[in-house]
Amino acid sequence: MEDVTKSYSNGDITIIWKPSLCQHSTLCWKGESGLLPVFNPFKKPWITPSGATTGEIIKRVRNCPSGALSFYYNEGADKKDSQ
Ligand code: SF4
Repeated sequence: MEDVTKSYSNGDITIIWKPSLCQHSTLCWKGESGLLPVFNPFKKPWITPSGATTGEIIKRVRNCPSGALSFYYNEGADKKDSQ
């Protein structure tokens, strides 16, 4: 697969998505661990960064087992919502 990197910002953070690394574990969107309003493979684009709080997004990104999802704080972002 082509080595593509996509980014999606909610103002506080930028979510990085590397499709070539995704193992399709479904952890980010399915079941109790999932956050479907943000990570929805049935939508295009499949990531909607406005769909949940920054803290909720960070939790799911950190659960991604493959490293396909990562994030960084945008410059000047308030990090209090990240725990
Ligand atoms: S949690 Fe990571 S590896 Fe699993 S489906 Fe989501 S992006 Fe892919």
